[in-house]
Amino acid sequence: MAVPSLRRDKPGVAASLKAEFSRSDGRGSQLLSELLDNVLNPKRPVAEAEGLEWCKCLMAGGERFEDFCQTVRAYDHATLCGLVWTANFVAYRCRTCGISPCMSLCAECFNAGEHTGHDFNMFRSQAGGACDCGDSSVMRDSGFCKRHRSTSGSSIPSVPSDLMMMSEHILPRVIFRLVQHLRDGYSESVSDPATERDIQRTLQQMEPLVSLLEDLTKMGGAMRSILTRVLGNHQIYKDLSSGDFCTGEKTYAKKNYDKYLTALKGSGLVSSEERSASSVLDHMAGASNVTILGATAGAGQRESSDEEEQDGSQGIGKRKRVKFCNGTKDPSIVDILKHKCFLEEILFWTVKYEFPQKMVTFLLNMLPDQDYKIAFTKTFVQHYAFIMKTLIKSHESDTMSNRIVHISVQLFSNEELARQVTEECQLLEIMVTVLLYMMENCLVKSELQDEENNFHVVVNCGEPLLKNNTYWPLVSDFINILSHQSVAKRFLEDQGLLQMWMNFVSLFQGMNLNKRELNEHVEFESQTYYAAFAAELEACAQPMWALLTHCKIKDMEEYTRTVVRYCLDALQDWFDAINFIDEPSPNQVTFHLPLHRYYAMFLSKAVRCQQLDLDSLLPDQEMLMKLMVHPLQIQACLSEIHSNMWVRNGLQIKGQAMTYVQSHFCNSMIDPDIFLLQVCASRLDPDYFVSSVFERFKVVDLLTMASQHQDGAPDPEHEKSMLEGALTFLVLLLSLRIHLGMTDDEILRAEMVAQLCMSDRTHSTLLDLIPENPNPKSGIIPGSYYFENMLSAVADFKAPVFEPGGSMQQGMYTPKADVWNIEFDPIMVILRTVYRRDVQSAMDRYMGFLKQTGKFDGNPWPPYRERALLNPSYKGLMRILHCKTLHIVLFTLLYKISMDHQNMSEHILCMVLNLIELGLDNLPEESVEEEEMLGEEHCSDSWFNGTNIATNLHHIINHVRVRVPETAPEMIREPLASTSSDTTCVQSSNTAQVFSLVAERRRKFQEIINRNGSSTIHTPDVRAKTSKWTAPNSTPQLTTTILEVRESMLSLLIKLHHKLSGKQNSYYPCWLEDSESTSRLDPMQQIHGDGTTAVERILIKTAAQSRQNKFSIEEICRKVTPPIPPKKNVSDKKALDKEERRQKARERQQKLLAEFASRQKSFMETAMDIESPDSDVAMDIGSSEKQDSETVYDCVICGQSGPSTEERPTGLVVLLQASSVLGHRRRSTEPKKLPTSDEEKIYPEDTCGTAHDVRITDLQRYFKDSSCLQSVSIGWEGGVYVQTCGHTLHIDCHKSYMESLRNDQVLQSFSVDKGEFTCPLCRQFANSVLPCYPEKNEEKCLWLPCNNKTLHVLIKEVEEQQEQLGMFPSVTNLSKEMESVMKDIRSTTQKKYIDYGKIPGSPDNDFLFMYSVARLNLELELVHRGGNLCLGGAGATTKRSCLNQLLHVLAIHMRLFRIDSAYNPWARLTRLTQVVDSGICDDEKPDVPLLYRDVPSLLMILALTMPQELHKEHFTCIVKVLYNLLYAQAIATFSFRFNEEEREVWKNSAKLQIMDNSEKSSEVLLSHIISELSKGNLYCASNTDQKSMITTTIWSPQSLEYSIQQFCLPFFRTAGLLQHHLFSDDLPCCQQTEEEFGMLARYLRLLPTSLNSNDEVKSFFCLDWPLPALDIVSQWCLEVTTSTESHSKQVMNLLVQDPQWSLPRLLRLPENYNTIFQYYHRKACVHCSKVPKDPALCLVCGTFVCLKGQCCKQQSYCECVLHSQNCGAGTGIFLLINASVIIVIRGHRFCVWGSVYLDAHGEEDRDLRRGKPLYLCNERYKVLEQQWVTHTFDHINKRWGPHYNGL
Ligand SMILES: [Zn+2]
Ligand SMILES: [Zn+2]
Ligand SMILES: [Zn+2]
Ligand SMILES: [Zn+2]
Ligand SMILES: [Zn+2]
Ligand SMILES: [Zn+2]
Ligand SMILES: [Zn+2]
Ligand SMILES: [Zn+2]
Repeated sequence: MAVPSLRRDKPGVAASLKAEFSRSDGRGSQLLSELLDNVLNPKRPVAEAEGLEWCKCLMAGGERFEDFCQTVRAYDHATLCGLVWTANFVAYRCRTCGISPCMSLCAECFNAGEHTGHDFNMFRSQAGGACDCGDSSVMRDSGFCKRHRSTSGSSIPSVPSDLMMMSEHILPRVIFRLVQHLRDGYSESVSDPATERDIQRTLQQMEPLVSLLEDLTKMGGAMRSILTRVLGNHQIYKDLSSGDFCTGEKTYAKKNYDKYLTALKGSGLVSSEERSASSVLDHMAGASNVTILGATAGAGQRESSDEEEQDGSQGIGKRKRVKFCNGTKDPSIVDILKHKCFLEEILFWTVKYEFPQKMVTFLLNMLPDQDYKIAFTKTFVQHYAFIMKTLIKSHESDTMSNRIVHISVQLFSNEELARQVTEECQLLEIMVTVLLYMMENCLVKSELQDEENNFHVVVNCGEPLLKNNTYWPLVSDFINILSHQSVAKRFLEDQGLLQMWMNFVSLFQGMNLNKRELNEHVEFESQTYYAAFAAELEACAQPMWALLTHCKIKDMEEYTRTVVRYCLDALQDWFDAINFIDEPSPNQVTFHLPLHRYYAMFLSKAVRCQQLDLDSLLPDQEMLMKLMVHPLQIQACLSEIHSNMWVRNGLQIKGQAMTYVQSHFCNSMIDPDIFLLQVCASRLDPDYFVSSVFERFKVVDLLTMASQHQDGAPDPEHEKSMLEGALTFLVLLLSLRIHLGMTDDEILRAEMVAQLCMSDRTHSTLLDLIPENPNPKSGIIPGSYYFENMLSAVADFKAPVFEPGGSMQQGMYTPKADVWNIEFDPIMVILRTVYRRDVQSAMDRYMGFLKQTGKFDGNPWPPYRERALLNPSYKGLMRILHCKTLHIVLFTLLYKISMDHQNMSEHILCMVLNLIELGLDNLPEESVEEEEMLGEEHCSDSWFNGTNIATNLHHIINHVRVRVPETAPEMIREPLASTSSDTTCVQSSNTAQVFSLVAERRRKFQEIINRNGSSTIHTPDVRAKTSKWTAPNSTPQLTTTILEVRESMLSLLIKLHHKLSGKQNSYYPCWLEDSESTSRLDPMQQIHGDGTTAVERILIKTAAQSRQNKFSIEEICRKVTPPIPPKKNVSDKKALDKEERRQKARERQQKLLAEFASRQKSFMETAMDIESPDSDVAMDIGSSEKQDSETVYDCVICGQSGPSTEERPTGLVVLLQASSVLGHRRRSTEPKKLPTSDEEKIYPEDTCGTAHDVRITDLQRYFKDSSCLQSVSIGWEGGVYVQTCGHTLHIDCHKSYMESLRNDQVLQSFSVDKGEFTCPLCRQFANSVLPCYPEKNEEKCLWLPCNNKTLHVLIKEVEEQQEQLGMFPSVTNLSKEMESVMKDIRSTTQKKYIDYGKIPGSPDNDFLFMYSVARLNLELELVHRGGNLCLGGAGATTKRSCLNQLLHVLAIHMRLFRIDSAYNPWARLTRLTQVVDSGICDDEKPDVPLLYRDVPSLLMILALTMPQELHKEHFTCIVKVLYNLLYAQAIATFSFRFNEEEREVWKNSAKLQIMDNSEKSSEVLLSHIISELSKGNLYCASNTDQKSMITTTIWSPQSLEYSIQQFCLPFFRTAGLLQHHLFSDDLPCCQQTEEEFGMLARYLRLLPTSLNSNDEVKSFFCLDWPLPALDIVSQWCLEVTTSTESHSKQVMNLLVQDPQWSLPRLLRLPENYNTIFQYYHRKACVHCSKVPKDPALCLVCGTFVCLKGQCCKQQSYCECVLHSQNCGAGTGIFLLINASVIIVIRGHRFCVWGSVYLDAHGEEDRDLRRGKPLYLCNERYKVLEQQWVTHTFDHINKRWGPHYNGL
């Protein structure tokens, strides 16, 4: 067989080749190879169509490729879905079914699986992903869909060998061609835009080839295993790729291979042969250092740092020499690559090309093949370091990060695979090394502590690597693999890894250092702190949490010990590196102490879960002292920041303080810090600890007994705030049990209660605010079921409501009453508040609860709570309550508060009492009595005898030595102090205190206390010493004096009680009144109360402790000591008075403002409240209510009142808007359903708008245009609706108001140029002013009940008045305004809604438009009243209606149009005229027959063309005459509904009555009309069409009467409303809808006076014929029958009218949002046939549009805006499919209305972020519909913005 020519037919060649192969003489393969040399020649363009065609054909072996695919697919035995998707794909995640948190499902698998009731959500994929359905290592089998549930492929036969034979031979060549192309196309230096383009072209060229490969992967398991074999085979790769491929193209092959080697080298990679050579060199150099990425791993940190110091040349940013364990790490993991198969080289190129999407998808599509997955994972790990290095250099790191994670998540989520590569490929080593490598590129010298001698280095948060979070793919992979127990174990076992990891963590220790600015405000607020917090959380804390989850059980305790040891080592190194001794540098803080936090968290886990002995894990005391310093510094700085001491550092420092405690960080930051401090406090000397706290908080100066202290201390405001901070911190430290014994349940409960107490929360906010544990990124909240249970235990659900003001509330959770009563914990609130105001908010809510439940009516103090039991390991913590230092502080503060010293707040007292009470509740084990005895003996200390608070409480302090300025008030009393001799305290001289461990530090603190503050004096000593001396070093005005005190803490407490209660001697021990009360009084019952309650509680507790205390209290109370008056000197007092006065003035002002605001508010609320009819008085002002006197209007601008006059007219503030609401009415009362499948559709044919359009078109075809334009109403789709807020103003005032708005610089939300403004009084949106017609009292028409004029006379009068030429009143200001408002009305809607006539701009159009506006406004009012008038005057709309004024304006303009008497319908209605049928010329079309005309339109025409004021008798006359016509129309209409027999029966049945001439009965008229119309053969044409309709109804006289009434009712209603507005007649009302007809007939005066009011009203009672009825009816029928020839088909439609429409409704929406989303989010637009990026849906008509899409833009209008104009005349309501939110477009503005779909917790989910199921909220949807129907979008919704036609 010859070499096949390329031109030969491919299938034939393929078939014969296949046959050759089966002969196995090797000829086949040679032939194929020759063919392929040609087809896949690298000189031909890659992926040439011809070449690909050949490949396909050859693989199929002569068959059609499609058939071949089909066959191969039959052998697919894969049980995995494996569908790969890219960004923005909608996928699902089920937490109930997932094992790995990364699990995800495609929509198809999700919907086919069983997940009802599961905790699932929908999400939009960010990085892309793959479906895990069928993978039991990632998810539970129960969640698999039916398709992927079948466990084995046993039923699938094995693949026949010859099927895949050809593919096996062809694919290596195909893949090699791809590799060749990749090699050829690559060039270095990516930054060059030209090469960048080249690379893009290379990628584009190969796309068809990759697509082919991707298609192959989709052929299922059989093909994938072939591909796997080809990709992984070493021999094939070696044969083809190594450059000595013998094709005769040697030079090309060589060049091609060299390109590959260059690329390898250019990437800093070498093949292993080269590496082994160089590593020999390394050895020869004798360097013990192992080269890792250019950093030298020194033998030890200390050593290398010494070297650096000697070096002297190193500067900031010089690389730190990282300490590694020698020799354990193989350098090859980072920079050696040797490719052994195609897969490896392809991955290499994929990385090189920065992960082209196509390649990624191909590689991932192969994953369902298990062998491939393993091979690929190994290859990926092998390239891991290279990948990350490329990432760092990448110019589009975001995209690349996503693509990397897209791949790695699929590989590392599988525990088995992760374990395997950890063991075989050193994955952990690689990761940690690469992490270190990454960070090494951006290190700076730490400036913490000792800037000079600091040799610690930290990451520089300003570097792009950190700022852009480039490291996240790596960290996220690391966390992912650590989540597997086996991998984590491997990590914890490997000491080298741990060591490296600690080195890594220490790079973050102390980063982003803040230095307090003392002088200048910082010029540039650095925002690096985001990067710092993100880095600590993601790179340090999350791996920590991942590890901690595995340290829960006892078995793992050795690991915990190891980690703790490494933490301590690392910390020790850090202290050394920063040269830390014992004191932190002042005014410095870093929030980043990851090493401390690692240590703390592992410690906590060890004690809590593994019951390890705490002491065995703690370092020595010196180390403990060091450990507490930095966390404490943060706490003090928090307080400083909140005390505004860091203002000069800018806002960003507040941001840091807030982030530190924020819910996503607190678990990993503040909580471990507080815990570590608690551990330190429990082991360190309490005096040392307490004094350190006060020193760190910089309040030592304040803790003196003197009333004034040294100047130079911080600002008094700061000082007070800092003291509050210090005390609060102590209380917090002692009260918090998060790591000291609370169970997980208790913690969750406490967190929840704290958040709910601050504010009511929505479910999702709460979920967000509760710190997640243990792994914040996992997305899995262990037992979220549990969260719900806890939530329902502590909170009540408040359903979502709509407030009339316009804001929509979502479903909220609010604390249960019992929670406030028992669980409210201010400490927890303080710990968790990000904003300080939240604490106050919680207290306010607490106060509200107490008031409401009658528990307490004052200003409550924070309640004292029983705490969870303290884990015994930490009971040492309570010792700080029993130390002298604290007691001295407490005593001092109590004293100062009782003496009214400045800077003492209620909050301080509160905390002092809290500490005392905590002390009493946590007494040391030795009994008080014992200590009492001991205490008396060794009163060694100058202040207190012992350390027990119960004893020290009653200890009396007599004298204190203080240092004060000479001017201090104490100086005056000083002689007193010196003279009084003290006898009670006769202790021996003080002995040295034993605080051996920290003696030096303690002495220092003592010094400080002595220097600045106070110390008790032993009287003899004091007298012996000089009582007045000046310290040599201090400022001269300071002097030491002795202060007489003579108080104990108890006596101070009792004095405070008097002070707090405001009464002298208010405290009397209760046990003295009633001996049993001590036992009876349960202190816990006194939780809720103010300060006095707290003091009482403490005193009772004290008394219960010892007899001595009880006795002391009684003693104190017996002495009637008047409280010492506050010692203030005169100037102080003056200052205070001044301050007081100022305060009072401020209060007064506040009160005024508040009053004003509340008045304004109540006004606003009522003004908005469209529902309540009698809401406000203000609205009456401009109403059309008529009184005998002239109406007086108030101008809301100038405030003057007066009548509206011709010269100075007044006008109503109105909003004109185009409306299509009536046009969207339909026949059926049920609203249309929104289609959610291709089968469903909405047809617009049955809307009112379309029906009228068809009708006018039909009429215009056959009748005279001017006549047509009087026979209908228009404006259903774009008429103008006029509404008012009811406020009036002078029109000239309005003009100047507009002028001022135009000049206003303030940005308005409306556009003044378009005439828009807001009502100056009620701020309602408006755009025009409707002039008020001056009333002429003399002409006021009054109804005369017994009018003598006959119908004939009245008809004559009406005719005469019609004949009068309309004249526009003389030109006055008023008439000008009337013209101008008419212009406004016309310009409100689009031209196409005005011009219906054939001649554009003809006055007929205008005429039609004007009466249609009247009609529209009347009918809209009817709609607002619910579609009928049964309720009569009880409608809100009456009061604010401007219809009367509007009708006036319209009438004045309509009068200007003269209706030719010949065409005047009045004549034809009331007279018998000669029908001149022959008189119609050919070119002149006939007039519209009366029976075709729309009667309500005629009413408008006739009523509005009468001269104003219209007389009521004339109005009634018009209605009467029109009713006759309407009645005839009704009869004609129904006659068409009969079938032929029925018609015959009806026709004959009334024959007899006709004889009687009883013209009024309906039967007679029916019979007459049938016979008249029969003349024109009308019924024949109709019968055939109408058959289906007739059969169902059987007509009886009753049903006929009912139908006639229904037919006439719409006219009655319109006429009734018109009468109501024209004459201000009160509307009647009725109980039942059946009575409406009669009621309105009476109201319109249609019934004969003879009729009794109780009689049943029949429709024909209202008939009043001016002429013989049958004659005129005959005439009307004749008009029809003479013209039918021309339009026989349309007769039916024109003659048969149906004036009844249902109320306008929006489309009915499905219950579940998913129904909408699934159908519409991938639906293509009918205009551009693309799937829109932002699809939207019109809720009025169901049209699907491209929001914001350029695709459907027409003349700069985007599709949404365009549709709002066509469908809603400028108003559009759109549901944004991807956001579940509704937007409303109104003209040139739009607003986000909100969502009508809420989740199970009553919350919106804008943009579907949470992806939880959403359900329709019917209440909200009703509100939306209501706003649409009442045209109140503008008034109720806030936040409008221009859309610039871009929606
Ligand atoms: Zn799937
Ligand atoms: Zn599936
Ligand atoms: Zn599930
Ligand atoms: Zn005015
Ligand atoms: Zn107003
Ligand atoms: Zn629409
Ligand atoms: Zn579109
Ligand atoms: Zn489009």
